[in-house]
Amino acid sequence: MSDVPANHPRALSLELREKIEYYRQLGIVANAGPIAHGRGEAFDYLLGETTPTPVREDIYAAAALLLEAQHPVISVNGNTAVLAPKSLISLSRNIPAKLEVNVFYGRTGEREKKIADYLISQGAQEVLGINAEAKVPNLHSARMRVDKNGMALADVVLVSLEDGDRTKALIDWGKKVISIDLNPLSRTAVDATLNICDNLIRALPLLEKAVQDLRTDQQKIKQLTAEINNDYSTARVLKFLNHRLGNLATIKNEFSILDATEEHIHFIKNLTKSVIEEGCFYPQQDELNTDYILSKLNLEYTCTNILLARHILCGFIDGDIRDNQTFHLKRLAIDKMYRGFGGGKILLKKVEKLATIKGCKKIVTEVLTNCHTAQGLFLKNGYTIEGLVNCNGEKHNLIVMGKKLSGA
Ligand code: ATP
Repeated sequence: MSDVPANHPRALSLELREKIEYYRQLGIVANAGPIAHGRGEAFDYLLGETTPTPVREDIYAAAALLLEAQHPVISVNGNTAVLAPKSLISLSRNIPAKLEVNVFYGRTGEREKKIADYLISQGAQEVLGINAEAKVPNLHSARMRVDKNGMALADVVLVSLEDGDRTKALIDWGKKVISIDLNPLSRTAVDATLNICDNLIRALPLLEKAVQDLRTDQQKIKQLTAEINNDYSTARVLKFLNHRLGNLATIKNEFSILDATEEHIHFIKNLTKSVIEEGCFYPQQDELNTDYILSKLNLEYTCTNILLARHILCGFIDGDIRDNQTFHLKRLAIDKMYRGFGGGKILLKKVEKLATIKGCKKIVTEVLTNCHTAQGLFLKNGYTIEGLVNCNGEKHNLIVMGKKLSGA
């Protein structure tokens, strides 16, 4: 069926897309099915296309809930049937739980029948939901129709690729709902008793394994179900995403440093000017004077280093050695666009190394009281507050910060 070469880096993803489209043409997947699938793929990219550790714990809690249930039901729609037929069938046998077709689009019952026939062709023995006559109270889409021997009786329902309306209606009807939804913020994920924020293709086999692991451990089952808290689970997933995206949103490895030369004077002057405008350097005549800057560049007792992101000049640090022992760090400036990526730390490390080589025992610097980001950077890099300089008549005072050099 597929023209996708097996060694294509996204072969599985492309094959699944083709499968969804193929079965859409056969009337098993709804016309809107590919859109829901694409939304899931986008969230899966954010997860890194792996099951996050906290979600693995949620999967065990979900397995416990399914094992504790008197009448567990696995709800199946077009997308889920096509994406993971064997896993759905195998999980339903293992729990054991009933399989029931339930669709959002399909008032004629024809699509339900096609999905059920497809699952039977894949090995399912029984699929409920055809000509279903019971109704989910307060639900108005085709999803309201449920089987009187399946979902109507169920105490725990497993749903995936679901719309939020039915999840909420099932909960209001007194059911516990486990959802598998890659979007941790969908109404389904938020309203469910427990959401498994994972691709159902990965989650179903993990869920089956968890069912096998837990089956005989009644105490663990009790403990896990008692601890279910969907808000907490969602928060952990969001924290995971936040951390992952934070790590990805870095250009740390793209930074490099070089000694400043005459060609950087213009850049130093401009950056100094903009930091003065931000209010984080006090204006001093000399600092904007080209000849003065040039006269101080990398002499025996001075140092000025430039920070580059790839090939773009984005920061600098300068200072001088006083009384042969102390490196006085005068200015550290990073272009606004490049802040928060670890460039400040790299500049500080470079200066520490240099000061140590020159025999300094300590680095000191002065930071304006209003410059909290700079203070945070110094504190994070081992500097301590040593005093305060009262700048009479000025808007802000100066905090003196220092760090002993360990290699000295
Ligand atoms: P809601 O009504 O719950 O706010 P929705 O309108 O997005 O959400 P649907 O379009 O019915 O709901 O369902 C699609 C949901 O399924 C999306 O949240 C999507 O991220 C998720 N999804 C899509 N593919 C997968 C998959 N393979 N595994 C798990 N979840 C998936």
